[in-house]
Amino acid sequence: MALQLRPNCEGCDKDLPPHATDARICSYECTFCAACVETLLANVCPNCGGGFAPRPIRPVTERRLGISLAKQPASDKRVRLKYDGANIADFIAGVRAIPPEKR
Ligand SMILES: [Zn+2]
Ligand SMILES: [Zn+2]
Repeated sequence: MALQLRPNCEGCDKDLPPHATDARICSYECTFCAACVETLLANVCPNCGGGFAPRPIRPVTERRLGISLAKQPASDKRVRLKYDGANIADFIAGVRAIPPEKR
């Protein structure tokens, strides 16, 4: 199954279109902008506690039959964090010192 390619940052609601180079995802595809990951989140996903990686960019050009952004389009469902700022700060404080591979 292809990545969902969610349309926005869960933290600040910045638009993150499929070609955005500053989109970051965790293993569950929680999606944030690079600025939120680096500053607000300290590379801790506030939903699952995992780390982030750059979201790959899906090719626009159909170089293989049936494989392209048009054939597997990005999600249009905007997602926002369901935790408040204090909750997130507490959560991150408890996890940030642990490297992602040991969380
Ligand atoms: Zn953001
Ligand atoms: Zn996550």
